[in-house]
Amino acid sequence: MLDYHLHLWPHGQRDKTPTLAQLREYCELAEKNGVREIAITEHLFRFAQVDRFMGGFFNQYPESPVRAIMEKYWADHAQADLDVYMEVALEAKAAGLPIVVGMEVDYYQGRMHEVSEFLAGYPFDVLLGSVHWLGAWPFDHVSDPVIMAEWDNFGVENAWSSYTDTLEELADSRAVDVLAHPDLIKVAGHFPKAPEEFYDRIAEAARDCGIAAEVSSAGWRKPVGEAYPAPYLLRKFFEYGVPITTASDAHCLADVAFKADEIKSYVRSAGYTSLRGFRDRKSYDSEV
Ligand SMILES: [Zn+2]
Ligand SMILES: [Zn+2]
Repeated sequence: MLDYHLHLWPHGQRDKTPTLAQLREYCELAEKNGVREIAITEHLFRFAQVDRFMGGFFNQYPESPVRAIMEKYWADHAQADLDVYMEVALEAKAAGLPIVVGMEVDYYQGRMHEVSEFLAGYPFDVLLGSVHWLGAWPFDHVSDPVIMAEWDNFGVENAWSSYTDTLEELADSRAVDVLAHPDLIKVAGHFPKAPEEFYDRIAEAARDCGIAAEVSSAGWRKPVGEAYPAPYLLRKFFEYGVPITTASDAHCLADVAFKADEIKSYVRSAGYTSLRGFRDRKSYDSEV
Protein backbone atom coordinates (compact mmCIF):
# COMPACT_ATOMS: atom_id res chain seq x y z
CA MET A 1 0.00 0.00 0.00
CA LEU A 2 0.97 3.60 -0.56
CA ASP A 3 -0.11 6.78 1.19
CA TYR A 4 0.52 9.27 -1.57
CA HIS A 5 -1.18 12.38 -0.21
CA LEU A 6 0.06 13.80 3.08
CA HIS A 7 0.15 17.30 4.48
CA LEU A 8 2.47 18.56 7.18
CA TRP A 9 0.16 21.21 8.57
CA PRO A 10 -3.57 21.48 9.33
CA HIS A 11 -5.43 24.32 7.65
CA GLY A 12 -5.77 27.41 9.79
CA GLN A 13 -2.56 26.69 11.65
CA ARG A 14 0.54 28.77 11.19
CA ASP A 15 3.07 26.60 9.52
CA LYS A 16 5.80 25.22 11.70
CA THR A 17 9.16 24.38 10.22
CA PRO A 18 9.04 20.74 9.13
CA THR A 19 11.57 18.42 10.73
CA LEU A 20 13.12 15.07 10.01
CA ALA A 21 11.58 13.81 13.29
CA GLN A 22 8.07 14.69 12.03
CA LEU A 23 8.63 12.80 8.77
CA ARG A 24 10.06 9.85 10.67
CA GLU A 25 6.86 9.70 12.76
CA TYR A 26 4.75 9.76 9.58
CA CYS A 27 6.76 6.86 8.14
CA GLU A 28 6.53 4.84 11.37
CA LEU A 29 2.75 5.18 11.60
CA ALA A 30 2.38 4.39 7.90
CA GLU A 31 4.46 1.23 8.26
CA LYS A 32 2.39 0.12 11.27
CA ASN A 33 -0.66 0.33 9.01
CA GLY A 34 0.87 -1.67 6.18
CA VAL A 35 1.91 1.31 4.04
CA ARG A 36 5.34 0.85 2.51
CA GLU A 37 5.90 4.26 0.91
CA ILE A 38 4.51 7.74 1.56
CA ALA A 39 4.46 10.96 -0.43
CA ILE A 40 4.60 14.35 1.24
CA THR A 41 2.29 16.60 -0.78
CA GLU A 42 1.73 19.98 0.81
CA HIS A 43 -0.51 22.52 -0.94
CA LEU A 44 1.39 24.67 -3.43
CA PHE A 45 -0.39 27.81 -2.20
CA ARG A 46 1.12 27.47 1.27
CA PHE A 47 4.51 28.67 0.09
CA ALA A 48 5.71 32.27 0.06
CA GLN A 49 7.67 31.57 -3.15
CA VAL A 50 4.36 30.83 -4.91
CA ASP A 51 2.67 33.92 -3.49
CA ARG A 52 5.34 36.00 -5.24
CA PHE A 53 4.04 35.11 -8.69
CA MET A 54 0.49 33.84 -8.01
CA GLY A 55 -0.60 36.23 -5.23
CA GLY A 56 -3.72 38.19 -6.23
CA PHE A 57 -4.95 35.32 -8.45
CA PHE A 58 -8.54 35.80 -7.25
CA ASN A 59 -8.65 39.51 -8.17
CA GLN A 60 -9.81 38.47 -11.63
CA TYR A 61 -13.20 37.41 -10.20
CA PRO A 62 -15.99 39.82 -9.18
CA GLU A 63 -15.81 41.16 -5.64
CA SER A 64 -18.01 39.19 -3.22
CA PRO A 65 -18.02 37.92 0.38
CA VAL A 66 -16.89 34.54 -0.96
CA ARG A 67 -13.95 36.08 -2.80
CA ALA A 68 -13.00 38.02 0.34
CA ILE A 69 -12.93 34.75 2.33
CA MET A 70 -10.81 33.10 -0.36
CA GLU A 71 -8.34 35.99 -0.42
CA LYS A 72 -7.96 35.92 3.36
CA TYR A 73 -7.56 32.13 3.29
CA TRP A 74 -4.81 32.48 0.68
CA ALA A 75 -3.00 35.22 2.60
CA ASP A 76 -3.16 33.20 5.84
CA HIS A 77 -1.70 30.15 4.13
CA ALA A 78 1.06 31.57 1.91
CA GLN A 79 3.66 31.61 4.67
CA ALA A 80 5.86 28.53 4.40
CA ASP A 81 9.31 28.31 2.85
CA LEU A 82 9.47 25.90 -0.07
CA ASP A 83 13.26 25.61 0.11
CA VAL A 84 13.05 24.38 3.72
CA TYR A 85 10.25 21.95 2.78
CA MET A 86 12.36 20.48 -0.03
CA GLU A 87 15.50 20.36 2.11
CA VAL A 88 13.83 18.40 4.92
CA ALA A 89 12.05 16.03 2.53
CA LEU A 90 15.29 15.31 0.66
CA GLU A 91 17.10 14.84 3.98
CA ALA A 92 14.46 12.24 4.92
CA LYS A 93 14.95 10.41 1.62
CA ALA A 94 18.71 10.49 2.06
CA ALA A 95 18.26 9.04 5.57
CA GLY A 96 16.55 6.03 3.96
CA LEU A 97 12.98 6.78 4.99
CA PRO A 98 10.37 5.36 2.57
CA ILE A 99 9.26 8.77 1.38
CA VAL A 100 8.89 10.58 -1.92
CA VAL A 101 8.63 14.33 -2.38
CA GLY A 102 5.54 15.81 -3.89
CA MET A 103 3.14 18.71 -4.00
CA GLU A 104 -0.63 19.13 -4.23
CA VAL A 105 -1.10 21.56 -7.10
CA ASP A 106 -4.34 23.46 -7.55
CA TYR A 107 -5.65 24.33 -10.96
CA TYR A 108 -4.88 27.94 -11.86
CA GLN A 109 -6.89 28.62 -14.96
CA GLY A 110 -4.74 30.19 -17.67
CA ARG A 111 -1.61 30.06 -15.50
CA MET A 112 -0.59 26.39 -15.55
CA HIS A 113 2.38 26.98 -17.86
CA GLU A 114 3.85 29.32 -15.21
CA VAL A 115 3.09 26.79 -12.49
CA SER A 116 4.80 24.01 -14.47
CA GLU A 117 7.86 26.15 -15.15
CA PHE A 118 8.12 26.99 -11.47
CA LEU A 119 7.73 23.36 -10.36
CA ALA A 120 10.34 22.18 -12.89
CA GLY A 121 12.92 24.04 -10.80
CA TYR A 122 12.51 21.54 -7.93
CA PRO A 123 13.27 17.80 -7.80
CA PHE A 124 9.74 16.50 -7.22
CA ASP A 125 8.86 12.81 -7.40
CA VAL A 126 5.14 13.25 -7.86
CA LEU A 127 2.66 16.07 -8.44
CA LEU A 128 -1.00 15.77 -7.50
CA GLY A 129 -3.55 17.92 -9.28
CA SER A 130 -6.66 19.20 -7.49
CA VAL A 131 -9.72 21.31 -8.13
CA HIS A 132 -10.64 22.96 -4.81
CA TRP A 133 -12.33 26.08 -6.07
CA LEU A 134 -14.66 27.13 -8.87
CA GLY A 135 -13.84 30.71 -9.73
CA ALA A 136 -13.25 32.21 -6.28
CA TRP A 137 -15.56 29.72 -4.51
CA PRO A 138 -13.76 27.13 -2.36
CA PHE A 139 -16.67 24.68 -2.43
CA ASP A 140 -14.98 22.20 -0.08
CA HIS A 141 -14.75 24.49 2.99
CA VAL A 142 -17.50 22.49 4.66
CA SER A 143 -17.23 24.19 8.05
CA ASP A 144 -17.74 27.73 6.71
CA PRO A 145 -21.47 28.62 6.54
CA VAL A 146 -20.94 31.47 4.02
CA ILE A 147 -19.10 29.13 1.66
CA MET A 148 -21.69 26.37 2.13
CA ALA A 149 -24.58 28.83 1.51
CA GLU A 150 -23.05 29.45 -1.90
CA TRP A 151 -24.17 25.94 -2.94
CA ASP A 152 -27.72 27.38 -3.23
CA ASN A 153 -26.58 30.25 -5.44
CA PHE A 154 -24.36 28.11 -7.63
CA GLY A 155 -26.76 25.17 -7.92
CA VAL A 156 -25.75 21.52 -7.64
CA GLU A 157 -25.97 20.67 -11.37
CA ASN A 158 -24.01 23.79 -12.27
CA ALA A 159 -21.36 23.08 -9.62
CA TRP A 160 -20.81 19.51 -10.87
CA SER A 161 -20.70 20.67 -14.46
CA SER A 162 -18.25 23.47 -13.71
CA TYR A 163 -16.11 21.16 -11.57
CA THR A 164 -15.93 18.56 -14.34
CA ASP A 165 -15.01 21.18 -16.97
CA THR A 166 -12.24 22.43 -14.67
CA LEU A 167 -10.95 18.93 -13.95
CA GLU A 168 -10.79 18.22 -17.69
CA GLU A 169 -8.76 21.39 -18.19
CA LEU A 170 -6.44 20.40 -15.33
CA ALA A 171 -5.88 16.94 -16.85
CA ASP A 172 -5.33 18.46 -20.27
CA SER A 173 -2.68 20.84 -18.88
CA ARG A 174 -0.41 17.76 -18.39
CA ALA A 175 1.07 19.62 -15.39
CA VAL A 176 0.42 16.83 -12.85
CA ASP A 177 0.81 13.06 -12.48
CA VAL A 178 -2.26 12.17 -10.41
CA LEU A 179 -5.81 13.51 -10.14
CA ALA A 180 -6.31 13.90 -6.38
CA HIS A 181 -9.73 13.12 -4.83
CA PRO A 182 -11.18 13.07 -8.37
CA ASP A 183 -14.83 13.54 -7.36
CA LEU A 184 -14.19 16.09 -4.58
CA ILE A 185 -17.25 18.04 -5.74
CA LYS A 186 -19.39 15.58 -3.75
CA VAL A 187 -17.65 16.58 -0.49
CA ALA A 188 -20.65 18.34 1.08
CA GLY A 189 -23.00 15.51 0.10
CA HIS A 190 -24.76 17.29 -2.81
CA PHE A 191 -25.32 15.05 -5.85
CA PRO A 192 -26.80 15.87 -9.27
CA LYS A 193 -29.62 13.84 -10.82
CA ALA A 194 -27.22 11.77 -12.92
CA PRO A 195 -23.71 11.82 -11.43
CA GLU A 196 -22.70 9.01 -13.83
CA GLU A 197 -22.41 11.38 -16.78
CA PHE A 198 -19.91 13.48 -14.85
CA TYR A 199 -18.06 10.38 -13.61
CA ASP A 200 -17.78 9.16 -17.21
CA ARG A 201 -16.17 12.45 -18.26
CA ILE A 202 -13.74 12.39 -15.32
CA ALA A 203 -12.66 8.82 -16.17
CA GLU A 204 -12.25 9.73 -19.85
CA ALA A 205 -10.13 12.77 -18.94
CA ALA A 206 -7.74 10.60 -16.89
CA ARG A 207 -7.55 7.95 -19.63
CA ASP A 208 -7.09 10.39 -22.50
CA CYS A 209 -4.45 12.46 -20.71
CA GLY A 210 -2.54 9.46 -19.30
CA ILE A 211 -2.95 10.59 -15.69
CA ALA A 212 -3.34 8.35 -12.65
CA ALA A 213 -6.28 8.74 -10.27
CA GLU A 214 -6.15 8.83 -6.48
CA VAL A 215 -8.27 6.60 -4.25
CA SER A 216 -8.62 8.45 -0.97
CA SER A 217 -10.04 7.67 2.44
CA ALA A 218 -10.47 11.41 3.18
CA GLY A 219 -14.10 11.37 2.02
CA TRP A 220 -14.93 9.18 5.03
CA ARG A 221 -13.97 12.15 7.26
CA LYS A 222 -16.25 14.56 5.34
CA PRO A 223 -20.04 15.12 5.25
CA VAL A 224 -20.38 12.93 2.13
CA GLY A 225 -19.13 9.92 4.12
CA GLU A 226 -17.72 7.92 1.20
CA ALA A 227 -14.28 7.41 -0.30
CA TYR A 228 -13.07 9.27 -3.37
CA PRO A 229 -13.79 8.17 -6.04
CA ALA A 230 -17.34 6.77 -5.84
CA PRO A 231 -17.64 3.03 -6.63
CA TYR A 232 -19.03 3.76 -10.12
CA LEU A 233 -16.10 6.04 -10.93
CA LEU A 234 -13.52 3.62 -9.53
CA ARG A 235 -14.95 0.85 -11.74
CA LYS A 236 -14.77 3.20 -14.76
CA PHE A 237 -11.13 3.98 -14.01
CA PHE A 238 -10.41 0.25 -13.90
CA GLU A 239 -12.34 -0.41 -17.09
CA TYR A 240 -10.34 2.34 -18.86
CA GLY A 241 -6.99 1.09 -17.55
CA VAL A 242 -6.37 4.23 -15.48
CA PRO A 243 -3.66 3.51 -12.87
CA ILE A 244 -4.33 4.51 -9.27
CA THR A 245 -2.54 5.70 -6.16
CA THR A 246 -3.94 5.33 -2.63
CA ALA A 247 -4.05 8.12 -0.08
CA SER A 248 -5.29 9.40 3.27
CA ASP A 249 -4.94 13.17 2.61
CA ALA A 250 -3.92 13.46 6.27
CA HIS A 251 -3.35 16.95 7.60
CA CYS A 252 -1.89 15.66 10.88
CA LEU A 253 -0.03 12.62 12.19
CA ALA A 254 -3.17 10.91 13.56
CA ASP A 255 -4.70 10.59 10.07
CA VAL A 256 -1.62 9.15 8.33
CA ALA A 257 -2.68 5.89 6.62
CA PHE A 258 -6.30 6.58 7.67
CA LYS A 259 -8.42 3.48 6.90
CA ALA A 260 -5.62 1.97 4.80
CA ASP A 261 -7.10 -1.54 5.13
CA GLU A 262 -10.53 -0.39 3.94
CA ILE A 263 -8.96 1.38 0.95
CA LYS A 264 -7.01 -1.79 0.13
CA SER A 265 -10.23 -3.86 0.06
CA TYR A 266 -12.00 -1.13 -1.89
CA VAL A 267 -9.47 -1.01 -4.74
CA ARG A 268 -9.21 -4.80 -4.85
CA SER A 269 -12.99 -5.08 -5.09
CA ALA A 270 -12.85 -2.91 -8.23
CA GLY A 271 -10.26 -5.28 -9.74
CA TYR A 272 -7.00 -3.46 -9.06
CA THR A 273 -4.00 -5.63 -8.20
CA SER A 274 -1.32 -2.95 -8.44
CA LEU A 275 -0.83 0.70 -7.56
CA ARG A 276 1.20 3.38 -9.23
CA GLY A 277 4.20 4.86 -7.45
CA PHE A 278 6.46 7.67 -8.65
CA ARG A 279 10.14 8.62 -8.49
CA ASP A 280 11.46 11.69 -10.28
CA ARG A 281 8.01 11.98 -11.84
CA LYS A 282 8.45 8.59 -13.51
CA SER A 283 5.98 5.87 -12.65
CA TYR A 284 6.52 2.38 -11.34
CA ASP A 285 4.13 -0.37 -10.24
CA SER A 286 3.69 -1.13 -6.56
CA GLU A 287 1.70 -3.77 -4.67
CA VAL A 288 -1.80 -3.09 -3.42
ZN1 LIG B 1 -7.03 18.48 -1.83
ZN1 LIG C 1 -4.71 17.43 0.28
